[in-house]
Amino acid sequence: MANLKMFIDGEWKESETLETRPVINPANGEVISYSPEGTAVDARAAIFAARRAFEEGVWSGISAQERASYLFKIADKIEEYADELTQLETMDNGKPLREAGFDIGDAAACFRYYAGLITKPDGYTYHVADPMQAMVVREPVGVCGLIVPWNYPLLMSVWKIAPALAAGNTIVFKPSEVTPVTPKKLFEIFEEVGLPKGVANMVMGAGPVVGHEIASHPEVDMISFTGGTKTGKHIMKTAADTMKKVSLELGGKSPNIIFADADFETAVDYALFGIFSGSGQVCSAGSRILVEESIYDKFVERFVERAKKIKVGAGNDPITEMGPLVSEQHLEKILHYIEVGLEEGATIACGGKRIVSKGLEKGFFVEPTVFINVKPEMKIVQEEIFGPVVVIQKFQDESEAVKLANNTIYGLAGAVFSNDGAKALRVIKKLRAGITWVNSYHPTYNEAPWGGYKQSGIGRSLGTFGLEEFQEIKQININLQVEPIGWFSN
Ligand code: NDP
Repeated sequence: MANLKMFIDGEWKESETLETRPVINPANGEVISYSPEGTAVDARAAIFAARRAFEEGVWSGISAQERASYLFKIADKIEEYADELTQLETMDNGKPLREAGFDIGDAAACFRYYAGLITKPDGYTYHVADPMQAMVVREPVGVCGLIVPWNYPLLMSVWKIAPALAAGNTIVFKPSEVTPVTPKKLFEIFEEVGLPKGVANMVMGAGPVVGHEIASHPEVDMISFTGGTKTGKHIMKTAADTMKKVSLELGGKSPNIIFADADFETAVDYALFGIFSGSGQVCSAGSRILVEESIYDKFVERFVERAKKIKVGAGNDPITEMGPLVSEQHLEKILHYIEVGLEEGATIACGGKRIVSKGLEKGFFVEPTVFINVKPEMKIVQEEIFGPVVVIQKFQDESEAVKLANNTIYGLAGAVFSNDGAKALRVIKKLRAGITWVNSYHPTYNEAPWGGYKQSGIGRSLGTFGLEEFQEIKQININLQVEPIGWFSN
């Protein structure tokens, strides 16, 4: 694959220093390409291009219908290149082709959703005292800085880019340094459909350099970030100096609560999907399974039996069910957490090791890992591991389930499995989490808001809420009786 380039003001650019860094295939450790090591100077060039394009109104000044027609064309192109994008996503992130294929389809659908939404009525009028007429209109925020992680390289990019562009903003986008390949292809599509110069800009490089410049620069009006909670806090502090609008989608340690009256095999099946899809590198992963005491042993036995049978391998092997971790650095982090769990006194019911069998020895593979005999205060129960590592906890009754479920700093997602509908809803209503499921795990919809309570973030992606994140609200008051008010006597 040719070396990657950044896209600034409608042109493909190398870093101003000409430095690059390797992009690695996590299934075999091989270099697939080199990406530019962008600098603060490169980031500023992108910010100024986005600012100029915004002020000139080449995007915000055209009709919503016209903007929508670009977004529809982008969706069509994503579908036209779906096979290529799927292969590239698997090569860069490691995820199985089946998962990558779903992501690409969702990405096209997300552009279509926002293309449709932006042409629908919005705003309000108010019945205020005569002779005034009051109304509210929505406007773009301006220049939006969009920073995304590596777990869904294309889809996470689109969740931000589609609503930001639909609303009429111009953007400075930074993919993860680990997975820039499909985002770069998306920007080729932007060029192909003829987005006006400067509307969509992409800078690559280290988060603390390029990302920091975007978060701190006064010409950026808003920052929308998805990634780790630690980085999110840093970005929020950085953005505070220029009072940017901030939208943060951060980590989780989501509870999956299974009552004894649940459909047993359905609960086991979804619990496996909840933690091991995406190799556990999913912000909403069901990484804490809470099981009612009376079925705990039976559940652990069946869950472990099935976890051991998951086919781990290279994402481009059609039989693979779980791929590698995204990078060697991330693999080390996961192995470290497994050691910490053992040191804390938890028991491994299955997995726990790097997979070095023939053909996988150069990749970053870890066995699906299950910890039991855990205590609520342990690090492996409290901290986001972001890998194929799950803890299974025991609870006695509804109130203990809720207490354990809410007992972390996070509040992104959660699920309840039970055949008692009233009980399931009672528990869901007590969960301090933004995304919940009953007798299911993981389905996500472009139409519905996505985001967390507590330290899982601020704001929402997707749906109407996801568009509003990228809009300002303006009050307009019109005097219908144009004559002096006479407040002062002379
Ligand atoms: P980060 O949160 O560090 O990275 C996410 C994005 O932010 C990347 O584009 C990154 O750039 C950028 N970034 C990093 N530092 C800064 C900064 N100072 N200013 C602006 N942007 C910055 O995730 P990591 O890859 O380091 O993963 C760490 C942990 O975060 C994971 O183990 C997991 O627990 C969690 N995580 C959660 C995700 C979620 O969806 N909730 C997604 C990814 C990670 P760069 O390209 O340099 O990394």
